[in-house]
Amino acid sequence: MGGISEKRVYLSPPHLGGEEIEYVKEAFAANWVAPLGPHVEAFERECALHSGRTGALALSSGTAAAALSAILAGIKPGDLCFCPSLTFVASLAPFVQSGAVPVLIDSEPESWNISPKALEEALSDAEKNGRKPGAVIAVNLYGQPCDMDRILPLCERYGVPVIEDAAESLGSCYRGRPSGSFGKFSFYSFNGNKIITTSGGGMLLSDDAEAIERARFLSAQARDPAPWYQHSELGYNFRMSNILAGIGRAQLKLLPLRVKERRAVFRRYYEAFSETPGVSFMPEPGWSQSNRWLTAIIVDPEKTGVGSIEIMKALEAVNVESRPVWKPMHLQPAFGGAKYYGHEGRDVSGELFAKGLCLPSGSNMTDDDISFVIGAVRDVLP
Ligand SMILES: *Cc1c(COP(=O)(O)O)cnc(C)c1O
Repeated sequence: MGGISEKRVYLSPPHLGGEEIEYVKEAFAANWVAPLGPHVEAFERECALHSGRTGALALSSGTAAAALSAILAGIKPGDLCFCPSLTFVASLAPFVQSGAVPVLIDSEPESWNISPKALEEALSDAEKNGRKPGAVIAVNLYGQPCDMDRILPLCERYGVPVIEDAAESLGSCYRGRPSGSFGKFSFYSFNGNKIITTSGGGMLLSDDAEAIERARFLSAQARDPAPWYQHSELGYNFRMSNILAGIGRAQLKLLPLRVKERRAVFRRYYEAFSETPGVSFMPEPGWSQSNRWLTAIIVDPEKTGVGSIEIMKALEAVNVESRPVWKPMHLQPAFGGAKYYGHEGRDVSGELFAKGLCLPSGSNMTDDDISFVIGAVRDVLP
C-alpha cells in the first residue's frame, strides 16, 4: 500500500441519506423553523416506537438528556452515583453537576461494560456505610449492550434506579430487545459522530409518562400554565428544533442499514487482523447484537512491537483518524478523588485504555477506504 490518503478518513463522520433535505424543506415551507413543531413530535413518536418505550422527549443533546435523567431520578447533593469508569465524560458529568458523589466501577472483560461483580461490591459497601445510592448509570460502550439480566436485578435488590446511557448503542439489541428500552430512564445521542445524527441532539426515554411530562416542562423553562410568563421553579432550555428533528426522522429510517454497514466495517477489520498475534477485538457476548458503532482493537506491544499510540500516529501521518479507547474516569483529573472498584482485583478499564484503539468506522467508508486503513495498520505491524 503506502502513500497518503488524499481525502481524510474520519473516525465516525455523519452519513446523510439524501431524504433529510426533504424534511428540512417541509419545515421551511411551513415556517416551522422554530421552536419545536410537527417534526419534533413525530421524531419523539418514532423514537418511542423504535425503543418500545411509551415516552420520549427530544432534546438539544444527549448530555441534556442525561442531565434531566439525573434531576428526575431525584439526585441530591451527596447521593452516590455508580458509573462505569470506561466511558465518555457526559455519562457522568451531569450527575456530578447535580451534586452526586461519583463511584467508579471497572469493566468486565467479556463486554468491556460495567462489571456486575465490582458494582455489587460497591453497592454493598454503600449500604454498609449508610450512604444513599442515587443511580446506577449503565453505559453501552461503543454500541455494546450491558448485561442487563445481571445489572437490573442487582440494582432492584438495592433499590437503586438504573439509567441506560444508550448514546452509542442506538440500533443495538440485548437478547433481542432494543437498546434504550432498559432502566427507569434511557437516552440516545444524535451528535455528529454517532450512528445517526441530527447534527446535534438527544432523546430522553422512559415508560413513566408522568416523568417524561415533567422533563418536558423542565426542558422548556418550566413555565406555569398562566397567560404570562410565570415560574414557580427553574427550568432549562434543552429542547430540539423542528429543523433538526426533521433531519433525525430521515436518519432514523436509515438506522437498520447503518447498523449493517457498521457491522460490515467491523467484519472487514476482523478478517484482516483476527489472526494477527497481539491484536484482538472488542468481544461480542452471545446476548449482544452490537451496532459496532466503533471498531475497537487491543494491541499488545509485547507481541506486536508497537503500541496503540504509535499506530494512531502512523495512521495520522497518512491522513487517517483513529483514537485511543476512552480514558477511564478514574484516571481523569476531574474525578481524582473518586472511589474506584476494580474487577476481581484488576484494573480492566485501565488496561483497555493502555492498549485500545478505535479504528475509522463510518458507515460511509468505501471498500477502498477500509483497505487503505488495513494496509496502513499492516505497515506498522511487524
Ligand atoms: C456522545 C455521548 C454522550 C453525550 O451525547 P451528546 O449528544 O454528545 O451530548 C453521552 N454518553 C456517551 C457514552 C456518549 O458517547
